[in-house]
Amino acid sequence: MKLDVNALRYLSKDDFRVLTAVEMGMRNHEIVPAELVDRIAGLKHGGTYKVLKNLLKHKLVHHDSSKYDGFRLTYLGYDFLAIKTLVNRGVFSAVGRQIGVGKESDIFEVATEDGTVLVMKLHRLGRVSFRAVKSKRDYLSHRSSYNWLYLSRLAALKEFAFMKALGEHEFPVPTAIDCNRHCVVMSLIQGYPLVQVKQLQNPDDVFETIIGLIVCLAEHGLIHCDFNEFNIMIDDNEKITMIDFPQMVSVSHRNAKMYFDRDIECVFKFFRKRFNLSYEEEREHDEGLVCDSGEDGGRLCFSSIEKSAGFLDKELAASGFTTKDQDDIQKYIEGEKENGGEDDDEDGDDEDDAAAEEEDDDGPIGVQISSLKIADQPEESATSNIADEKEPLVPENEEDCADVSGDSEDNENDDELAKRLDKERKRAIAAVRGRRKLITSRNSYKDKGRKSSLNSKVQRQALKW
Ligand code: ADP
Ligand code: MG
Repeated sequence: MKLDVNALRYLSKDDFRVLTAVEMGMRNHEIVPAELVDRIAGLKHGGTYKVLKNLLKHKLVHHDSSKYDGFRLTYLGYDFLAIKTLVNRGVFSAVGRQIGVGKESDIFEVATEDGTVLVMKLHRLGRVSFRAVKSKRDYLSHRSSYNWLYLSRLAALKEFAFMKALGEHEFPVPTAIDCNRHCVVMSLIQGYPLVQVKQLQNPDDVFETIIGLIVCLAEHGLIHCDFNEFNIMIDDNEKITMIDFPQMVSVSHRNAKMYFDRDIECVFKFFRKRFNLSYEEEREHDEGLVCDSGEDGGRLCFSSIEKSAGFLDKELAASGFTTKDQDDIQKYIEGEKENGGEDDDEDGDDEDDAAAEEEDDDGPIGVQISSLKIADQPEESATSNIADEKEPLVPENEEDCADVSGDSEDNENDDELAKRLDKERKRAIAAVRGRRKLITSRNSYKDKGRKSSLNSKVQRQALKW
């Protein structure tokens, strides 16, 4: 997926309003019925349908009519909502080049008003396999709004909360700066992932530091669970920084020992292979950290570490990350492991296709957002129809009837859909004419001439989405 933030400059207040309405509808629907979007957005004169058409054209929403006429956010749409919020908060003002692409994340440089470069990580859980996500629906059946948005948001919140708590305990991690939706902003680490390093001045020291970190984490009640050469950054002075925390577990987890051993094993293997290091175990023997025999085979022994579960609980809770959040995401991660992370996506989803495309395009985007007019957050009077974050308009028990796999046979830009949207719009106009005005939005289509020229600007500017 190409993250062309240029287009962000040309989105109007109403565009964001309708995009937000789709997001809200997705709390209870995988696919949000068009009428519900209209009801939440509350634009006058069927304005929602016109805006939806525009959002569709720019792939901010996806249309699905397999069961009923509805929409869902695409990752691009979700990206824009998060970026806009963070820009409005003053966290950063420009989005730069992409510096990393993981299986379930995209990483970009961003810059603050004063030119400081930071890192923005966009979580993309479920990108690899919508089907796999669907098969895990059972795990989270209590949560009707369970979907990739929810999971990606949880992953980001977890990463942010852990990064912040670990930083406060002086672990070498990036500084956690802010978090919104599926997006985490952190400091930029000047260095390279260890996997790219062919030679070290002091491989023994680096090795010991890394093993020491795993032990220290366990003493603080945590296991990284993905502690490998891809998630360890190292700079020119061979200073280590660990990254990537969404999969961390507590030492009280039932598989804690296995995860701990696996982290240790990864580091051993890598150093043995890459730096020809044969690890001396005597010192750890002296310190009583190594088991003499049995399954641990002379390795660092999990049971001999003095662990303090719950050590970081307070800090984590302070970031808004609850035990229930932890349970939900853990169930997803474990389900994913059981499935072996298989790539069985068959829905040909547009953002997935685009994700494949973007891999050969690492050119800088470098768009300065600060100098541009970004639509403000909807004014209070205009948001009267948008419920508070925690209070979805849709009744909690409403059937979650959508199919995540989505049927992408229907072309989003097809004439038929355009006609249908026009029809819906007309119907909505007729409906409001026939009854008292429910909503008065100062912003809706006051200036039709300006509006349409704005739309054509979007067409011209948003060349590749
Ligand atoms: P994933 O969950 O997809 O593995 P990571 O958090 O491990 O994502 O990041 C992927 C890559 O992005 C890293 O290997 C690293 O090259 C780069 N990266 C991530 N965070 C930072 C950061 N704070 N500073 C510099 N580079 C980073
Ligand atoms: Mg990683």
